[in-house]
Amino acid sequence: MSIISVTDLHKSYGSVHALKGISFNVEEGEIYGVVGPDGAGKSTLFNILTTLLLPDSGEVSVLHKDIRKDFLEIRKYIGYLPGTFSLYPDLSVEENLIFFATMYQSSIKENMGIIKPIWQQLSPFKNRPAGKLSGGMKQKLALCCALIHKPILLFLDEPTTGVDPVSRKEFWEILKTIQQQNISVLVSTPYMDEATLCDRIALLQEGQFIKMDSPQAIIDSFQGNLVTLHTHDIFNLLHLMEQCPFHCNFYPYGEHLHVIFYEDLTTILPSFEKFLQDNNQIYNNIQQIKPTIEDCFIEITTEKKNL
Ligand code: ADP
Repeated sequence: MSIISVTDLHKSYGSVHALKGISFNVEEGEIYGVVGPDGAGKSTLFNILTTLLLPDSGEVSVLHKDIRKDFLEIRKYIGYLPGTFSLYPDLSVEENLIFFATMYQSSIKENMGIIKPIWQQLSPFKNRPAGKLSGGMKQKLALCCALIHKPILLFLDEPTTGVDPVSRKEFWEILKTIQQQNISVLVSTPYMDEATLCDRIALLQEGQFIKMDSPQAIIDSFQGNLVTLHTHDIFNLLHLMEQCPFHCNFYPYGEHLHVIFYEDLTTILPSFEKFLQDNNQIYNNIQQIKPTIEDCFIEITTEKKNL
């Protein structure tokens, strides 16, 4: 039976319909990712699943318990790292941890096994006020505090937002060690590259799931042929692409332009290159590439040209 089960969940704030009929299940032992841009509804979903916010309608069970009736019971067995910094900035690293352990009638010693990989990195700073830690270290401390009572299920709402790339990578390595300790994880992120580190993901946009599967299955179901090209004047090229006569989808991707064609590339690419050259575009390295999750997200959500 699923560790999280959600059916037709709706939540509005006044006229803002934040969740529009979401359904999904998370299985025991999974790292399940909710991936979507700012305002998609991720925090609303997490606040409902962690029993902090009531839904308007829908069936929601967490650890096989009803979030409306059994919220006190659920809270004993879950850990939650909310999207905003939630520790006490004036307390030291160690004092924060002791505080959260004590709230759950536990102790650091009792659960050192579970937090050890993170604590090894934090302990040199144990006397530093939490508010004076770097972004990555703050999140590692918050993770320790969310784990100190040995939860069965961990909720992490955008744990790596604003964290530097090295700390992000370390954070995900820690998540894998947590999974090995039989803790299931529901994590949200706006970073599409982190989606591939989850066992399954749901892509969330404007309060609706637009795709749910393993990252590889989502990539395999990509519609179209993706090419990338590099130019020194991306704005000019984007402007020109508005007049592109081919059936395609295009968007900037870092310093590159990504174009998705919906026809065989062997026939379309020579005509496309002619179109670029006829319009005096200087570019290099036009080549077919495999899509990332970000390409998949854009492909599903954006309007196609000349359909
Ligand atoms: P995300 O976490 O993906 O950024 P949120 O769940 O925070 O998304 O927000 C979803 C939508 O609900 C947004 O349009 C946001 O502005 C709105 N929203 C969130 N919380 C409130 C609130 N307390 N009152 C009014 N609108 C809200």
